[in-house]
Amino acid sequence: MDSQYLAQLNESQRAAATHLDGPLLVVAGPGSGKTRVITCRIAHMIASGISPANIIALTFTNKAAQEMRSRLEQLVGPSQVWLGTFHGFCVRLLRRYARLVGLPEHFNIYDADDALALLKEAVKASDFELTHAPIGVLANRISYFKNRLVTPEILESATLSSDEYQVGQVYPFYQQALLRCGAVDFDDILMHTATLLRSNQELRQQLDERFRYVLVDEYQDTNLAQYVIVRHLCVDHPNLAATGDPDQSIYGWRGANVKNVAHLERDYPDLTVVRLQDNYRSTPEILTIADCLIQNNENRKPKELLAARQPGNPVRLAIYPTARAEAEDVADQIVALTEQGDFHPKDFGILYRTNAHSRLIEHALLRRQIEYQLIGGFRFFLRKEIKDLLAYLLLVHNPEDGIALQRAINTPPRGIGKKTVEQIASYAGKHGLSLLDACRQCVQFAMLSKRATTSLKSFLSIYDQLCSIVHGPLLDLLQVTIELTGYREHLSKQKTSGEESSDIATNLDELLAEASELDREVREDQSALEYFLEVAALQADTDKLKSDRNVVTLMTLHAAKGLEFSCVYVLAVEENILPHARSKEDSQQLEEERRLLFVGITRAKDQLQLSYAKSRGFSGQGSGVPSSFLMELPRSEMQILDKTESSYDEYHDDDSQDQYFDRRPVEWDEVSQVGPEEQGDLAVQFDEDCQLPPEEITASMRKRLGRSASGRAILR
Ligand code: ATP
Ligand code: MG
Repeated sequence: MDSQYLAQLNESQRAAATHLDGPLLVVAGPGSGKTRVITCRIAHMIASGISPANIIALTFTNKAAQEMRSRLEQLVGPSQVWLGTFHGFCVRLLRRYARLVGLPEHFNIYDADDALALLKEAVKASDFELTHAPIGVLANRISYFKNRLVTPEILESATLSSDEYQVGQVYPFYQQALLRCGAVDFDDILMHTATLLRSNQELRQQLDERFRYVLVDEYQDTNLAQYVIVRHLCVDHPNLAATGDPDQSIYGWRGANVKNVAHLERDYPDLTVVRLQDNYRSTPEILTIADCLIQNNENRKPKELLAARQPGNPVRLAIYPTARAEAEDVADQIVALTEQGDFHPKDFGILYRTNAHSRLIEHALLRRQIEYQLIGGFRFFLRKEIKDLLAYLLLVHNPEDGIALQRAINTPPRGIGKKTVEQIASYAGKHGLSLLDACRQCVQFAMLSKRATTSLKSFLSIYDQLCSIVHGPLLDLLQVTIELTGYREHLSKQKTSGEESSDIATNLDELLAEASELDREVREDQSALEYFLEVAALQADTDKLKSDRNVVTLMTLHAAKGLEFSCVYVLAVEENILPHARSKEDSQQLEEERRLLFVGITRAKDQLQLSYAKSRGFSGQGSGVPSSFLMELPRSEMQILDKTESSYDEYHDDDSQDQYFDRRPVEWDEVSQVGPEEQGDLAVQFDEDCQLPPEEITASMRKRLGRSASGRAILR
């Protein structure tokens, strides 16, 4: 059965793709074809007579799901395979079985902002003093608990550390508030689904039967909730195929547990393990650098990755005087490389640790009129004007949603002040009513000022009119919302600059266009409004990424997982940025940061440049010290581009590598070993004005300490 898709695979890949029944783990390094194996395996399953309706493939991002779907369609045409994100799948299940976990079917999904607004209310209700933990930290801790399936009830009976105790005081209030609003936050989507599957044996069996074949890509990033969900779908039909790479586990901070990969062997004693060794993505030069880096993680199993590709250019390490110079030079390089005609804008990926690092490179690209797409910047559905309008739709969808009501009630301003809302909220609290019902009673019993009552009446009238057309097309609903609320007139009265208001107007048009598109897409058995709200809530950073657009891509290292570009620039590889300042106290976090750089490096197919700047102007960060990770890379294998003194014209200056440590050529043959007795108290001269003190030199660096001919300690 050597069909077209199996012919695209090597022998080990084919073994994995043609494995039909029984648990399977494909564990392999980056670029070895794990994702390709998944799509080919689905195609093979369908060709072998397995019903597509029995297959489910789960991914972490919509983008990954879309790519997989389009790859699969190329192989087998449209199919009924359930292909989507964990969150998408779970929302679909929860809508059907909401009552089993105490939710209304029409629950709303809160984004981080709405969840935070509710958490603030919960903090107030709990009398908890926010002295020790800022609200964001509290939110993260609650999220961490949820991802580990720790409910408020479990927390209540556990022995707690003082940090946990603090969270434990607020968490139950927050959870009750969510339920009162008939809402879930992102973490709830997984936690409730795990609970649903754990506590409803019959339903679990039905789903296990329906989804007999389960595939999960990037399994190393599953958290406990996701593990439980997958585990419960694969009991009677243990046909789980997981692919993963422990070296690319980068979501530990969000509760992902790389041990889930090892647990597969425990859970499925007859697990078939396939290892892939050939890397088809990157040149050997890039792979060598990646390998040297990741070897410094002590907490890992070594694995071999062989380059299937021919040698290419050396990896470049570039040093700039300032972050601006870094951005300008990278943009110049892109201009030069595209002008030579070897590369197109879409071949470039510019990666960095946090979104804040995109600003300078954006400017540099804009000035050169190079088109780019910024992934993970401000999300469309989080824009103020979009959220204002969505608040009405959320309230129409779920009248219990207090957060949506608080946003909509005085947007655009109609004279309902904060005090009035507080009065309504207090009345609602006293009588156990939703805010909306409280509004109605306040009007009915004329409990508010005349002016507030009139305004409230007009708000309720808009709401009721919207409810009357909720079953019609989404586009109508949105248009009527804009009209009845007078939103456009409100915008025209705002004191925004011309450019800003034209942006806002464009955004409203885009929202309407999106609505009309979704009206066409929605399934018959689904409400268009519900579908729309789900798309809005589950849209993630990477979704806007369009691989068919011929533009440069800017994104964080986290968002780049699973992707590939011909030329990759990793910016700001600096101490306190990468590794992040937070991670340095904890060896596990430090290893995760190293994996993050590893993910970045291994996105590159042909060319890779890592860079740092000696000064980077934002507060508290960017000490100008190169990342300690850079010291783990073999300088002899890299091209060093020192821009701190030279002008751009010297860009191809071969001597620049030699200037790097010593301002005089380093003869690698002359570098002598440093004996163990001396190693403990040596400071390493990293470059002219940067010295790494002995206490910051890690064990793995120590093994590579050498002394240059001029007597300075360096890393070999
Ligand atoms: P990552 O861990 O980064 O997600 P991966 O293991 O999923 O990587 P893929 O993205 O599936 O790797 O494949 C990497 C690249 O190698 C892709 O461009 C893919 O098309 C190509 N590739 C995979 N297998 C083969 C093969 N047998 N022959 C030629 N090219 C291949
Ligand atoms: Mg992949």
